[in-house]
Amino acid sequence: MATKSFNAFEMAQAQFDQTAKQLGLDQATCELLRQPLREYSFAIPVRMDNGTTQVFRGFRVQHNDARGPGKGGIRFHPMETLDTVRALSMWMTWKCSVVDIPLGGSKGGVICDPHNLSGREQEQICRGWVRQLAQDIGPDRDVPAPDVMTNAQHMLWMLDEYETIRGARFPGLITGKPVGMGGSLGRTEATGYGVVFTVREALREMNIKPADTIASVQGFGNVAQYAIQLYTQLGGKVIAISYWDQKEQTPRTLRKKDGIDLGALLQITDRFGGVDKDKATDLGYEVLPGEAWIEQEVDILFPSAMENQITASNVNKISKRVKIIAEGANGPTTPDADIEIHKRGIFMLPDLLANAGGVTCSYFEQVQSNINYFWEKDEVLGKLDTKMTSAYLRVSELARKKKLYMRDAAYTIAVDRVAKACRDRGWV
Ligand code: GLU
Repeated sequence: MATKSFNAFEMAQAQFDQTAKQLGLDQATCELLRQPLREYSFAIPVRMDNGTTQVFRGFRVQHNDARGPGKGGIRFHPMETLDTVRALSMWMTWKCSVVDIPLGGSKGGVICDPHNLSGREQEQICRGWVRQLAQDIGPDRDVPAPDVMTNAQHMLWMLDEYETIRGARFPGLITGKPVGMGGSLGRTEATGYGVVFTVREALREMNIKPADTIASVQGFGNVAQYAIQLYTQLGGKVIAISYWDQKEQTPRTLRKKDGIDLGALLQITDRFGGVDKDKATDLGYEVLPGEAWIEQEVDILFPSAMENQITASNVNKISKRVKIIAEGANGPTTPDADIEIHKRGIFMLPDLLANAGGVTCSYFEQVQSNINYFWEKDEVLGKLDTKMTSAYLRVSELARKKKLYMRDAAYTIAVDRVAKACRDRGWV
């Protein structure tokens, strides 16, 4: 099969168009929803540690806020593009809608590589990003959060800059803050755990015990690490993970057939999820090419790294044993690969549902920040489980009833709710 490279935004629009057609949405609603409401692209000049000034490019795209203030992370990535951010902002709208939280969809990014930036330089990027957007984000407008290569410290610098400009405290401006500084317990775990809550429900419906399954994971960042933790706690065994080898600029897979040891691997992993290859070899891991994660003979695949990873050129490498694909990342499967997966009858847990745990917990963080009363971790994770499980059940019920692919069922529910909100407001 020929490989086609996909522009993430075109991919998101195509997914939307298909759902819009199924739902019979009118032309104005389609036009409104297939593009962002607002977008910002700006320069962030930063005085570097060596005295020179470097100008970074920053973005924020607000796709839709009919159901509530925009919500979505900020990525720091050297390959970031405005189109990717557009796609991700649209996906946030559907994600918040499918789990039925009162928020819209936004996304932000900066073209930069934090591997090569000092803490002070990263702080300047965070503060510069907020200075450009201080009038256009806010607790009731658009609420940022962490994503690829951003973390709680970045969020706190951003919050501090915003509060300095506004001259008051606004803890609801941003989520993913450090615990003790307005952050919620469980937020760090939430995306990975949420993925596993949906896997657990899918396995329950298939009558398979998690302890009878094995898995392979793409990525070893925040989402992957906590997905592995909970999946292992439920009895599952992860035999492979992959990561980006920054030194040699290549992806790698690490495999241990009797199951990886998460704790031991974390000790040789940097803050971006990069593993020390030589130490991993000493610990008995096989070092394989980056794409090897996808061809493992496992029951579950967890693509939990970036978009555009399962493509027409590697989808045929997926083992016959694979029953479930749980998308921890946003947009990891290209549309042509998705068609193959559907044809093969692999059960798809689509990104907008599977990885919605992060934003759901962000919503809980906002609620706690707004009332200035913080819940125990068990309470947060219990509420997260309830929300994710009921969203899963709703999607799987529709999929069964209408014989839909899970991705199509999730889209149908999500888009329908947003379209209704636009109509109810009198926008269309
Ligand atoms: N970055 C996460 C996502 O893609 C979380 C967003 C948020 O918490 O607002 O869903």
